[in-house]
Amino acid sequence: MTLFDSPDFADHEGVHACFDETSGLRTIIAVHSTARGPAAGGCRMWPYASAEAALTDALRLSQGMSFKNAMADLPLGGGKAVIIGDARTDKTPALFEAFGRVVDSLGGKYWTAEDVGVSPADMAIVRKQTRYVAGLEGHAAASGDPSPVTAEGVFRGVKLCVERAYDRDLTGVTVAIQGVGHVGAYLADKLHAAGARLIITDVNEAALAEVAARTGAQIVAPDAIFDVEAEVFAPCALGGAINFETLARLKARVIAGAANNQLATPQIGALLFEQGRLYAPDYVINGGGIINVAAEIIGIESGSGFDDAWVAAKLDRLTETLGEVLDRSLAEKRPTHAVADEMAKARIAEAVRLKTAA
Ligand code: NAD
Repeated sequence: MTLFDSPDFADHEGVHACFDETSGLRTIIAVHSTARGPAAGGCRMWPYASAEAALTDALRLSQGMSFKNAMADLPLGGGKAVIIGDARTDKTPALFEAFGRVVDSLGGKYWTAEDVGVSPADMAIVRKQTRYVAGLEGHAAASGDPSPVTAEGVFRGVKLCVERAYDRDLTGVTVAIQGVGHVGAYLADKLHAAGARLIITDVNEAALAEVAARTGAQIVAPDAIFDVEAEVFAPCALGGAINFETLARLKARVIAGAANNQLATPQIGALLFEQGRLYAPDYVINGGGIINVAAEIIGIESGSGFDDAWVAAKLDRLTETLGEVLDRSLAEKRPTHAVADEMAKARIAEAVRLKTAA
């Protein structure tokens, strides 16, 4: 199979595979779409078993960013970079300088940021070679930690789903949160303030104790979170939380949380729908973080500062979009994840049409 026939190719505008002899950098930058604006998406460093595995990851993540940015109604397309290597042993300044030069050679078509295996310190090195870097501190448009904005978007999404599924507000509703890290802890605070009852789990006991002390949450062991009596399950840890095994155990009718790639397979999304559960598509409900990053990119591009009012308006719009996904799923009797994918594709196609017509 050639690259163009691969299902993951998904009409990517560009796939840039680059090697730097001096540093040993091997990177793939996948640019899925620039129809809505420059392609934005983080850079991941991972010891991929093969170049094919790295390519597949870059292509899937890049298309995912196009969809996420479109559903957050941002003037951004989707892209992603992967660096093949072990983040614990293979990092050198020369490697990230070389990566910065590759990003710069794309002339602003792709904006990079941190992702798994890449730290702010690494991105500071990249920044020396290119201005197309988001997520760094120390400038007027710096966006800082995206987690509070992500949590606010997820909180509003949970509230909306509870209204739709149970016809009630959050008072007295039980929410099971898997993972009380950056986003999960903020989410717990917001839900607690809204009168929800919390059951939480994490592998980090200190984080659990802190959140429980503030919110009165009940703590359960990591595997027990799938068996608790709750109206809402909020995955805020790693991907793949909803699979055939966990779904058979979950009591919650609403699944709404911050984690990326919550469904182990698309079939799980169909099953959730058949079972009458309400699933908030992950890349829609967790779009607050990318809204925050987008404000930084726009601020850098325009030379202005960080615009809080713009972020607030985009968050409002994000909640409306989630409502639209839920409405269409109900009206068209189709799973929410399928509706969201279709809406994202339509938004990108519309941008292509407008660009072509201009
Ligand atoms: P984080 O690393 O701060 O928090 C994740 C938490 O999950 C940690 O406390 C960790 O100990 C816990 N955890 C790991 N494995 C677990 C397990 N098996 N059971 C229970 N808990 C477990 O990450 P975060 O920034 O809070 O992000 C959470 C999720 O949301 C991730 O999937 C991330 O990709 C996604 N997300 C985050 C943002 C953001 O703004 N930070 C934006 C969009 C999506």
